[in-house]
Amino acid sequence: MSLRQHPDHGNLKVLENALMTSALTKLRNKYTTDENFALIASRMAPFVVFEALHDFPLGEKYIETPVASMKAATLDGTKISLVSILGAGQALLHNVRQTLLPWASESYIAASRDEKSFQPTLHYERLPEDLSDSLTVVLDPMLATGGSSSAVIQLLKDCCGARNIILVCIVAAPEGVSLIKKEHPKVRIVTVALDQGLTDDKFITPGLGDFGDRFTGVTPRKK
Ligand code: URA
Repeated sequence: MSLRQHPDHGNLKVLENALMTSALTKLRNKYTTDENFALIASRMAPFVVFEALHDFPLGEKYIETPVASMKAATLDGTKISLVSILGAGQALLHNVRQTLLPWASESYIAASRDEKSFQPTLHYERLPEDLSDSLTVVLDPMLATGGSSSAVIQLLKDCCGARNIILVCIVAAPEGVSLIKKEHPKVRIVTVALDQGLTDDKFITPGLGDFGDRFTGVTPRKK
């Protein structure tokens, strides 16, 4: 697996791996059942985070092997905080924590966007007091306009002092990548694919449709 720095977006790395690309094709296919969609999406998630952290700086500690003492590389003591943007972020969160980062903390922010103005609203949050010395991994499968992700990142900075932030997606649109670059130049983005753009109703195209609806099997009722 490898991460390719995108030539047009300095803040973006795209994961290059045949298995992941093929799994994404299954997610994109509208004939994939919701059940399979959920299974594939949650299986993909740890691989994307795994790759996003591949060059994360290691600490050192002295240990005893059965043969000798050694100074060994470790992530022990490194604080990692997973922040899921509800609802679609939940698709990534559980399997990432379970299989990859059991010691990471888990936080949530619920976001929705107005169907006419496309502006984001943040409804609910469950965040830690302080993220200033943590690596904060924001999980948002679909980076479309970037409005919700950007608002969430701003909140993480303002309320919790988050400084070291990675945004992990499955599909990104150039519009979202550019907005994050403009509003949060230090945030790194990792995605499985960068698509062509957005439709008039701000879906990613070719995209995969509504990630949250397909993952949960629920199209939310209109209020
Ligand atoms: N959210 C989705 O679920 N899909 C898109 O295409 C854009 C935002």
